[in-house]
Formats: sequence, C-alpha cells, structure tokens
Amino acid sequence: MQNYDYIVIGSGSAGSIVAGRLAANPELSVLLLEAGGEASAYPKIWDPNQINCLYDIPQIHWGYKSLPQVHMNNRIMDVWRAKMTGGCTAHNDMVYVRGAPADFDQWEIDYGCIGWRYKDIAQNFARVEAVMQPTTTTKNAFGAAFVEACEKLGYTYNPDYNSGANMFGVSPLRSTISKTFRRQTSYERYVIPLLATQKNLSVITNALVGHIEFDNKKRARSVVFSIGGVAQRATAEKEIVLSAGAINSPQILMRSGIGDANVLRKLGAQVVMDLPGVGANLMDALIFQGTWSSSQPITNQPVNEGYAIVWANMNAQGQASNAVEMMRGKYTCGQSEAELQGFYSVTGDMMRLQSRGAVTLRSLNPADAPLIDMNFLSHPDDYAECVKGFELMRSIGNAPGLAAWRGKELTPGPTVVTPAEIKSWILNNAWSLSHPVGTCRMGIGETAVVDAQLRVYGVSGLRVIDASIMPRITSGHTQGPSLMIGDKGASMILAGP
Ligand SMILES: Cc1cc2nc3c(=O)[nH]c(=O)nc-3n(C[C@H](O)[C@H](O)[C@H](O)COP(=O)(O)OP(=O)(O)OC[C@H]3O[C@@H](n4cnc5c(N)ncnc54)[C@H](O)[C@@H]3O)c2cc1C
Repeated sequence: MQNYDYIVIGSGSAGSIVAGRLAANPELSVLLLEAGGEASAYPKIWDPNQINCLYDIPQIHWGYKSLPQVHMNNRIMDVWRAKMTGGCTAHNDMVYVRGAPADFDQWEIDYGCIGWRYKDIAQNFARVEAVMQPTTTTKNAFGAAFVEACEKLGYTYNPDYNSGANMFGVSPLRSTISKTFRRQTSYERYVIPLLATQKNLSVITNALVGHIEFDNKKRARSVVFSIGGVAQRATAEKEIVLSAGAINSPQILMRSGIGDANVLRKLGAQVVMDLPGVGANLMDALIFQGTWSSSQPITNQPVNEGYAIVWANMNAQGQASNAVEMMRGKYTCGQSEAELQGFYSVTGDMMRLQSRGAVTLRSLNPADAPLIDMNFLSHPDDYAECVKGFELMRSIGNAPGLAAWRGKELTPGPTVVTPAEIKSWILNNAWSLSHPVGTCRMGIGETAVVDAQLRVYGVSGLRVIDASIMPRITSGHTQGPSLMIGDKGASMILAGP
C-alpha cells in the first residue's frame, strides 16, 4: 500500500497538467498512474513529419473500434486513443484551437457550468499557451496561394483564430510543434522537468487502473491498478483525479460503481452512486478529405501541417460548423517526396454535430474494451452539416485562385456529382476526427456527472478533469480545451475546498 496526497489517473493531455501543477508545490505528494509506457521510447512521435505513421505502432494505442454506425452504412470505425505518457498530445495532429468564445459561454448558460464563460477561462488558455507555445507552420508558395484563393472566395484573412474576437476566415494554422520542429506533449512540458527536481512526484507507467475504492462515507480513498497482471493499491489522503479521457474515464467510474445503477447491477457491480449520465452524451466530430493532383511541386511544408485553416459556416453566436485544413500529399504513412509534391488535400471537418452516442461496459474486467457508439448522423440535422462541409471542401479545392496549382480532382472525383452520389461518398468515406468528449458531463440536471468544480456528484474526494467533462463539443479541435480543463481543474484543487 502506497500513500499520497493526490493520485492522478492518466498522464494524458489534461492529467499531466494536473499532476505537474500539484507537484510544483513540494509539500504535496502526487502519484501519476499511466496505463501506457514512455512516449520517449518512440522516436517517430517527436518528428511531426511522421505523424501519419504513428497509427502503425500498436503499443501506443488502446486499439478501440466503434460499434457499427447504423446511420453510416454500419461501418465500424477506428476509435484512436493514445496509451502512453502525454496521452493524445503524443499522437494527435497537433492542431491547436481554443474554440469560439460562445462555446464556453454556452457551457454556463445552457448547462449551468458557473465560472466557465470565455471571460473566465481565457486566462487558463493563456497559461497553457505560455507553456505549450503553439507555433505557426511554414508558409510555402502553395500556402500563400491557398490563403489568397480562400480570400477571393470570401473567407477573409484572420491572423489569429484564437484571439477571442472571431474565428471566421482563413488563418495560419497553429500547432503544438516547437520552434525547433518537435512535437510538444503536456507530459514533456509539465511533468518531465519536475521529475529531475521534485521528489514529491511519482510516476508509474504500464499501470492499468481498474477501479477506485470508497469508504463507508462514499469518500474516494484508493485506486486499484495492475502492473503486469499483479494487483496493487495506492491511497490518496486528499483527492483522486480521474484524467483517463472521454472513453476511459467513464469506464473507470462504472467499474467503481458509479453509473446507471440498473446497468451496473446487471454487470455485477456494487453500486456506489446512481449517475445515469456516466458514459452517455458522447459527442465527436467527423472528417473527410478531397485530393487533387498538383500541376507544380508543393515543397517546404511539414506532412499534414499545411499552413492554413479555414473556419466557416458560422452561426449567429460565431461558432463554426465546419473547418477546412489544407495539406500537401495524402493522409497516409511513408509518402515519397514525389507523392508529397504531387498532390494537395483539403479536408472537410464537421465540428458541431448534434448526435449523441455512448460508452458502455462490456464487463467489469479492465482488460475488456468498452462498447463505443458515436451514433454518428443519428440527429436529423447532422447530415446537412456534412453536405455543407462537402461543398466547402470541394469549392476550396477547386477554387479559381488555385488554378495554377491544380491538376485534377481525384477524390471525390468526377463520378460524385448528384445528391445521391454525394451522400454515398460521405457515408462511405467520413471518419471520426478523434474528438470524443462529453461522457462525464459537467453541469446540472439528471445526466450531469460532475459539478462546475469537476467534483463527481454524490461522492467526495473524486474529480474528473479531462475532455469527458465538456457538456457540449467545442467549435474547434479538442486538445486546446482539454489542456485548458487540466489547467483550470488544477487551479480549483489548489484553491482548496
Ligand atoms: C489521432 C488523433 C488526432 C487528433 N488530432 C487533434 C488535433 O490535431 N488537434 C486537437 O486539438 N485535437 C486532436 N485530437 C484530440 C485531442 O488530442 C484530445 O481530445 C485530447 O488530447 C484529449 O485529452 P484528455 O486529457 O481528455 O485525454 P488523453 O490525452 O487521451 O489522456 C488520457 C490518458 O489516460 C490514460 N489512461 C486511460 N485509461 C487508463 C487506465 N485505466 N489506467 C491508467 N491510465 C489510463 C491514457 O493512456 C492516456 O494517457 C486528436 C486525437 C487523436 C487520437
């Protein structure tokens, strides 16, 4: 039995910030538990040009698949979740976006998350950015032409979509890539520097957390985990923080007896707290990609990190329904320089879909993958969002301003023209943008799991601090908000009860 003040479960995007900020106080002892191994063991992770090759390293993923997506031709999709120090910051595409200010205002207005308006959390974003230092990628000749082509289509140039003023328009892409062209992970930035100096921070990797134990007053007391199949237990004097991400945090809660009581009983769990919202409210974004041959070589551009991004189809609150990202080459591993120079791609990203899915348990065994159903396109309005994204992607890829660079449209291509052909192409080609959120949602109401201080309802000594607490998906990519949640959650703990 090991004793600490705080135990943080998951060394991912948010968890590394929580552990690092708590351990910066030498009077607090902190244990950080991570199911995966050290990301430093895999050189490809650190080279942004290897971004498409990380999918081929099974040791760094959970290997999850979705249930058949019944509104998308029953396709089973990959549900990518990183399993290593740094979590998804060690595997993601590094795009850095805060989101629209209205996203966070809405968390307070619609979901009762007091203290999460943009004016309240902008300081947390700023603090994260001071550490993670997102940068802008190279502006090559194609990038310059792309921006100009988008401006001519009416997407005004926006120098910084993260300024808090307005996301709309075409902007330089910001990424969590350092000025020396190395991936930045929250573990590397927040935890590793402390390990050299602070004796109060312990990290255990390859430690699979099974469940959390409570005392008879429903206070979270200990964490049960296994290393190489051998069970271990650690105790927290002050708090346990669950930062295992939107797929795994609800699983750990359910295995600990927190979730829909009827479902838990059927699985044989002892119910600690009946919270039907655990695992519900799963939201995600969709992406597809068009590809064009290029008539002149596209050089001097990192793989997948095209210079520009477009935010479009805004609602009255300034929230973007769609994003479009430019890149050279295609979205595959190991492209030759000729392939990278010979093609350009434009994505269509559907950021604010309204469909809700769920994460449920297959069994109480921590080794069993959960049942994951994004339930994509189950909301009647979501397919129309895909059509808007499709039209945007195609109009930008075929923009008159890119005529000097364009060979021909390869995908969707000339056979995808009628509404039926477009529908078939979207349903067969869109995939998850790997932005699952919402499964331990914050706020008030029957399906809320944590309050606005991120404390799990009905028990004490337990918070959830990761992407799962978002009551509604943001208008952008989700690592920025996840890092912000880590920073704000740490501040809440440090501020005391
Ligand atoms: C392939 C991919 C590309 C993406 N691209 C982008 C992008 O370009 N821009 C962007 O903004 N967002 C992107 N995202 C999404 C973004 O990275 C995530 O939304 C965000 O990082 C989630 O942070 P988190 O803290 O909630 O969870 P994570 O970062 O996933 O951290 C969870 C951690 O908990 C650990 N853990 C889980 N279960 C257990 C257990 N039982 N025991 C111990 N440890 C456990 C995990 O191994 C992991 O390290 C991408 C995601 C993926 C997978």
